[in-house]
Amino acid sequence: METVLIDGSTGEGGGQILRTSLALSCITGKSLHIENIRAARRNPGLAKQHLSCVQAACQICNGQCHGAALGSGVLDFQPGLVQGGDFYFDIGSAGSASLVIQTVLPALFLADKPSTVTVTGGTHNPLAPPYDFLCETFLPAIATAGFRGNCKLVKHGFFPAGGGKITFDIQPWQKNTHQTINLCVPGKEPQIHARIYTAKLPAHIAQRQQKLLVQSKLEFQNVEHIEVTDSDGPGNCVMIRVCNGSRTTVFTAFGMRGKPSQNVISEVVNLAKDFLAGGAAVDSFLADQLLIYMVMSKAGCCTTNELSRHLLTNMEIIKKFLDVDFCVEERAQVYRVSCHRS
Ligand code: ATP
Repeated sequence: METVLIDGSTGEGGGQILRTSLALSCITGKSLHIENIRAARRNPGLAKQHLSCVQAACQICNGQCHGAALGSGVLDFQPGLVQGGDFYFDIGSAGSASLVIQTVLPALFLADKPSTVTVTGGTHNPLAPPYDFLCETFLPAIATAGFRGNCKLVKHGFFPAGGGKITFDIQPWQKNTHQTINLCVPGKEPQIHARIYTAKLPAHIAQRQQKLLVQSKLEFQNVEHIEVTDSDGPGNCVMIRVCNGSRTTVFTAFGMRGKPSQNVISEVVNLAKDFLAGGAAVDSFLADQLLIYMVMSKAGCCTTNELSRHLLTNMEIIKKFLDVDFCVEERAQVYRVSCHRS
């Protein structure tokens, strides 16, 4: 069987290249040789989260790998046959549970029976999809092409303590469905909600963030505060949820020691305002995460307000495994991304 060679320093040069490659290797049955893993990061090579992704990919298909060690920059992976079942992956750090799920999910949708995946690690991490994004934004978006899953937050895990838990139920994809992802038309008159999470932090932090949100000139239907009591360590994040009927886009900014609440709020407010002003249907994070599902269903399209390097890099990696044409058209800073597979 063919081996696909991937240069992990391509484009964005981060962990997503590894995850997309592992997912596609499982789906196509093609072996993977990847070098320069996370070459563009300050701490290149496999970190705990990425190592868990490799181990998870091995487990779901009884695959084999060489080079699966912390810090490793080179990995060989030979997939076996993907089989559904119950899986438990422990990242052993605050590494993102969502990103481990992102690795195994596409292949488990193609398995012969349903699966349940439980991951312990971070559930609300900077630079990764927080749990709320996973269940409110990502899952409904892929469900439009018949990919059906449910997720449940069992325990919150904030960076850096981790220790959270997510479970994910995955139904085999009904391949005969002719549905494809077609998320091109932005919703009309969205309702805007905010959600503040604090864990093990003084009450004045959420009060201040609430006040700043109200001053931000976005018209919130409500601002909820969730005080988390089950986490191992402290945490704070602020989410703005843009809701249109069945579609919700969750934007997030994280508070951390030394970062003023003012900065947390402007970060998340700017993300939401850019999206609302842009006339696109999908935010830039969802766009890069949808790509593999568009390709699995052979065609699909979405519009996004930002063409991220993650998205462009993902296209390059997918093309190494599959014969697929991507097309990006820009009109008034709205990017229409589509794909077609013969
Ligand atoms: P590295 O440590 O190499 O940066 P990583 O494995 O943590 O790598 P990336 O390669 O940067 O991560 O990929 C991050 C993924 O998380 C992307 O798919 C991106 O869309 C997603 N992501 C990042 N921030 C958010 C967010 N706020 N909401 C939703 N998704 C996000």
